[in-house]
Amino acid sequence: MGKKTGSIQINRRDFLKVSAFTTTAAIGLTGIGGILESAAGQQVGMFPPNPVYRTLGRTGLKITVVSFGAMLTPEHEVMRAAFDLGVNYVDTARRYMNGRNEEIVGKAIQGIRDKLYIATKTRPSSGTKQEIFEDVETSLSKLKTDHVDVIQMHNLTSKERVFSQEVREAYVELRKQGKVRFLGVTTHTNQAEVLNAVVDDPDKFFDTVLVGYNFTSPPELKAAIKRAAAAGIGVIAMKTQAGGYQTGALGGLSPHQAALKWALDDPNVTAAIPGMKDMSMLREDMSVMGMKLTWKDRQILNKYGQAIRPYYCHLCGECEGTCPNHVAISTINRSLMYAEGYGNMELARSTYYEVPSMARASACLGCSVCTAQCVNGLDIASKMRTALRMYA
Ligand code: SF4
Ligand code: SF4
Repeated sequence: MGKKTGSIQINRRDFLKVSAFTTTAAIGLTGIGGILESAAGQQVGMFPPNPVYRTLGRTGLKITVVSFGAMLTPEHEVMRAAFDLGVNYVDTARRYMNGRNEEIVGKAIQGIRDKLYIATKTRPSSGTKQEIFEDVETSLSKLKTDHVDVIQMHNLTSKERVFSQEVREAYVELRKQGKVRFLGVTTHTNQAEVLNAVVDDPDKFFDTVLVGYNFTSPPELKAAIKRAAAAGIGVIAMKTQAGGYQTGALGGLSPHQAALKWALDDPNVTAAIPGMKDMSMLREDMSVMGMKLTWKDRQILNKYGQAIRPYYCHLCGECEGTCPNHVAISTINRSLMYAEGYGNMELARSTYYEVPSMARASACLGCSVCTAQCVNGLDIASKMRTALRMYA
């Protein structure tokens, strides 16, 4: 990873020229608008944007194609600015920021709750009715609302949990009580398997899927997304920017808008929820609404893909059967992505410690040679050493 770190040169989004915009309280969002350009002269969209909406499958909700991923946002003003610009869907989770993220969303939605759709997630470890009821009650209290629009099972890694009867009974009860409206799942690992299970479920229980999807995703995931959309399941894309790594390989051009456009170019995706930490990110992501994926974007993504190939984990989980100690390699790599790509150590650490202790990188200390194999050529032993150092 040391080599990679040396190649990271551009401060991800700070190269956007923002001088055409005012920088007061709402940071120019209601002020002067116009065509936004990068320092490299790349046209990066209109701002303020014209919101574009798509329908979230059979839920019928019409949501903005660029919606708000709240996971990384420390200040409610950033979310509020997005809502003021027309964004109408926000995604959070019980677990993010140890519960503080829902409080931040709760502040941002005050007075405009009825104009917004709120999605949250029960904790990944919650499997009993009691745990799920507690999660949802806590979410409602932190969000300061009486219902959430989409409640999601967080981070399914295989098809088995899609069919958990106890979870289903809890969700049905919550829906009867009017505390949740629609039901969804989220996944990072074995995503095609999870999506196909949701589609093939005879009860058609889940309405939405939130899935990591970007220009590096394999064809089987694209196919599973197409099946889900055809079955009326609303598909929302996350991790659209392949880790949000900063790279000098692009000579000042932003890969992040191109990556977002790539995900939205798929008509089977209703929306993407890029994480927006600050106003600069908000401007960059929101400006994409209504923009087409171009040949130049594809070129940028080719270069970006090459630059991140040595260290970007696709979270496919294919390697895990090749590790004799059943180390949770994909989850550990996801935690490293949060640290190295997103620059969010708190999220990285909490993700790492979700892994049962037997399956953490410490299990590697007993191995003289790493036999785990990555189908994408990543050096797994090196990644696990990085995790050991980082979380020591
Ligand atoms: S060193 Fe490799 S094979 Fe050994 S436990 Fe770690 S990941 Fe598994
Ligand atoms: S290390 Fe390789 S095989 Fe394992 S999850 Fe990541 S990309 Fe897939």
